[in-house]
Amino acid sequence: MSSDQWAERLGAIQAQIARAASACGRDPREVTLVAVSKTHPVEAIQALYDLGVRDFGESYVQEWQEKAAALPADIRWHLIGHLQTNKVKYLEDRLWLIHSVDRASLVKELARRAQAPVSVLLQVNVAGEDSKFGCTPEALPALLEQALEAEHIIVRGLMTVPPYVEVAAENAPNFAALAKLREQLEQRVAAVQPEHPFDLLSMGMTVDFEEAIVHGATHVRVGTALFGERDYGAQA
Ligand SMILES: *Cc1c(COP(=O)(O)O)cnc(C)c1O
Repeated sequence: MSSDQWAERLGAIQAQIARAASACGRDPREVTLVAVSKTHPVEAIQALYDLGVRDFGESYVQEWQEKAAALPADIRWHLIGHLQTNKVKYLEDRLWLIHSVDRASLVKELARRAQAPVSVLLQVNVAGEDSKFGCTPEALPALLEQALEAEHIIVRGLMTVPPYVEVAAENAPNFAALAKLREQLEQRVAAVQPEHPFDLLSMGMTVDFEEAIVHGATHVRVGTALFGERDYGAQA
């Protein structure tokens, strides 16, 4: 793709974000576009970087490491995929935000390995789908307490991957549920770590990011609309 084509795609998504935010009285600057670059080559990431994008999301630790080594150091890397406990030792301190902390064993391992403070979101399976990662809403308070107690871990908010839907509005209840959970836990977090607000909501993907913004998303994770379809077969 030419840089004009990249600019056009990016501009269209930024305009959608701005419209969705303005329509519900939010400042568009409250919403960070995380460009989900998993399975896509470093050239594609560089093209968006050249247009000013700094937030990129990756799902697989090894793939992220290889790309990060080849790309500018000021990229803010977001780890958004399921994180196996045995991969934590490879994380180093270059991650900006880990979106997918969903169990006590992972909290423990992150705390044990971290050399510096690491910012995380707790992933919640609000829709209760069997096939999805994330703790249940019922288990969230206990997981939060563990994360608050753990050394080096800063809990900044919540994340969810709701069901795939054709009509974005179908996910409205799930986005609303995540926003409500954040609100309910905010005071508790403020009491324990007053210097770091519990103010982030990572929700919304290509099909439903505008709906997520209406419900308070601060981070939308957009892959396909930016990079095109993913070809998992092309991966090693
Ligand atoms: C791949 C992925 C995305 C991006 O999905 P698109 O539908 O391509 O925008 C967002 N969030 C998570 C957790 C993902 O794994």
